[in-house]
Amino acid sequence: MRQNLKQDGSNLESLLENALHVSTEYLDSVDTRPPATAFSQKEMLTLPEDGLASARTLGLFLERYGRDIPSSNGPRFWGLVTGGTTPAALMGDWLTSVYDLNLSHAANSVAPNIEMEAIHMLRQLFGLPENFSGTFVSGATMSNFSGLAMAREWVGRQFGKNISQEGLHVIPQIKVLSSEAHSSSLKALAMLGIGRENMKIIPKLSGNREAMDVSALRTALLELSGEPCIVIANAGTVNTVDFDDLQSISALKSGFKFWLHMDAAFGGFASCSPKYRHLLNGMQDADSITIDAHKWLNVPYDSAMIFTRHRDLQISVFQNSGAYLGEIAEPVDFIHLSPENSRRMRALPAWFSLTAYGRAGYQDIMERNCLMAQKLGERINASGAFCLLAPVRMNVVCFTLNGDINAERVKTFLMRLRDDGRVFMTPTTYNGVPAIRAAFSNWRTEEKDLEIAWQAMAECL
Ligand SMILES: *Cc1c(COP(=O)(O)O)cnc(C)c1O
Repeated sequence: MRQNLKQDGSNLESLLENALHVSTEYLDSVDTRPPATAFSQKEMLTLPEDGLASARTLGLFLERYGRDIPSSNGPRFWGLVTGGTTPAALMGDWLTSVYDLNLSHAANSVAPNIEMEAIHMLRQLFGLPENFSGTFVSGATMSNFSGLAMAREWVGRQFGKNISQEGLHVIPQIKVLSSEAHSSSLKALAMLGIGRENMKIIPKLSGNREAMDVSALRTALLELSGEPCIVIANAGTVNTVDFDDLQSISALKSGFKFWLHMDAAFGGFASCSPKYRHLLNGMQDADSITIDAHKWLNVPYDSAMIFTRHRDLQISVFQNSGAYLGEIAEPVDFIHLSPENSRRMRALPAWFSLTAYGRAGYQDIMERNCLMAQKLGERINASGAFCLLAPVRMNVVCFTLNGDINAERVKTFLMRLRDDGRVFMTPTTYNGVPAIRAAFSNWRTEEKDLEIAWQAMAECL
């Protein structure tokens, strides 16, 4: 064994103490660090011949990158939909790397048990019945991909075909219906050979809504004359967190043949609060459901779940049989349930966080985030400088600058705000208007952060 590695191997405790020190120093600074920083290309290091060993590598890393690491997991990163990391989730994530268990097989470790237990708790958090099985994937994009892969398989079965065996060419072009599907669902359609162009956009409800007009969906289904298809419903759109009427959509299942995939990447957390839970009525009738974990569950990247009532189709698509892998038997190895083969014990951070904070903990995070969004919305409504573009329905504020609105002005404002370093938000377009989104999904965000951000917004105009 080479000297560097040998030395590191016998010095683990002090190396981890160094990492702990760097970690706590960083975490103590998330309140004051800029939440986002500009990208700057550095000259690349060349691969060293003999390596520096860990201690000097840490020093070099800090020197090169330490100051530039933003606090995107801090209380004022309001771009995209970005969760933080609860202390318990961090603990679980750290240990995931320490144990380095491969989740793929049940026969050689407790890892699958931990994932099943985490899924069991998540089902309770989301109010999903026991007939839903769940699997961890790397994010909502892979979750949408997995749900739509099962949907594709189901459509094949309606034609008496097995698409994962025979390929897509044995059935007519698959039709997908949705109104405000997230871009990642289109990406999934591209990856699945269904094609982005084969999504038919169903009109939205009138009156500043992003939810699907269910009567228009009914008309589109009628036009398909009994041909099986896929419907993607949204539980929480990214601009204004609008919800499709899941109950009316699932009610259509009695008259039409479609697979219902629900993208509830962050909207699924409406289940945590009695105030918002009704928005998910009908969710239990979906065939597959996407929910992100690295957003509102506040576990570190990368983590999400795919839930389904059709594990047989999931196995049909994702089975990975091989002589050395053995037969498929109960409990079904996770290797047969998701796009990955080997993967990390992704459920452990979720297991820690759910166990540490429970239902009430998540209700607090969710409701507090929504309250902060509402309060920001009120300030915007009362100000002369900004205007709301949609009501604040949950945790996202969609607004723009007052006066002559153009994309350039919005961009300049957002760059100024980023470089000011107190708060970060990202741009969007809403009903053709260049707009700004402020999304709240971090456990750390409190009233004081609103104050700090509001000040920054006023000064960056
Ligand atoms: C964020 C998001 C996605 C994609 O999630 P990733 O975790 O980034 O892959 C999909 N759908 C919705 C509604 C989202 O908010």
